[in-house]
Amino acid sequence: MQAVKAGAKRTGRTEGTRRTERIGRSGMDPEILECYLEAGRIASSVREQTMNAVEEGGRLLDTAEYAEELTRQMGGEAAFPCNISINEIASHYTPLKGDSKFTPGDLVKIDIGVHINGYIADTANTIEVDTNHNLILIKAAQEALNAAINEIQDGVNTKYLGKVIENVIKSYNCFPMTDLTGHSMERYTIHSGVNIPNYGSASFGNVLHAGDVVAVEPFTTLGHGMTRRGEVRIYSLVGSKVSKNLLHQKLFSLFNTLPFTTRWMDEPDELDKITTKLHKYPVLIESGGCRVAQAEHTVIVEDKGCSVITA
Ligand code: MN
Ligand code: MN
Repeated sequence: MQAVKAGAKRTGRTEGTRRTERIGRSGMDPEILECYLEAGRIASSVREQTMNAVEEGGRLLDTAEYAEELTRQMGGEAAFPCNISINEIASHYTPLKGDSKFTPGDLVKIDIGVHINGYIADTANTIEVDTNHNLILIKAAQEALNAAINEIQDGVNTKYLGKVIENVIKSYNCFPMTDLTGHSMERYTIHSGVNIPNYGSASFGNVLHAGDVVAVEPFTTLGHGMTRRGEVRIYSLVGSKVSKNLLHQKLFSLFNTLPFTTRWMDEPDELDKITTKLHKYPVLIESGGCRVAQAEHTVIVEDKGCSVITA
């Protein structure tokens, strides 16, 4: 089920009917639902426009800043820094000053987060710069995502979704990244406790319920499917407890508990003063140096099926 396009004309009566239907499907508060739908609409548009802006010789930093500026222009806020992860880098890479340019053959994952009042839409897709050598990896990730979405409804177990994802990826003779997962989200919280595995034999599983908001994100590779950790470019504050530390207060007022990057700060060196209050997101890199593709949507679980808010 696709999200209702926010650009569509709304009369009071039609909207009322739609809302009643939606409440029946997900049980979510209508005003919160509107925030999610708007965040999803913006994230989807920013993802597409940013992918279109990727070209040989373009700077990664310019592309990330373009995505973040577009998000603001459309009335949203970045829920995390624009991630541009290339080739064997799977995720959590955001460009900093002096960063490199796109070159032909790069396998580029664009991962966009948008929030409205803290309600988050998280979406990603993969493209290749000028060449077509990795179409199977990309297709496997996209089709695994579609297959999982088709199975999501109230009562589904995330372990089963992992199996669906793994089966599709393996049907393309690719492998899932087994230590990267999709995740449930809550207000101002990008990972709220439930993981959605990308393989069937995961040692964890949870039942999804109507009204849950989850990001599903299969990653594909021809390598081992495990990551190693690189440098840290993205942080978030741990907890929302009011602190006497002025920097902590300032960062909380700017980003709440959502991820941010040093390039968004005037004096990034100051982070050294509050290391105990920081959660770090190291860059995640395929351990064998093999290329990785990713596809991701955010969905709202419903009684029967789900709504893809980032379609
Ligand atoms: Mn993402
Ligand atoms: Mn995600």
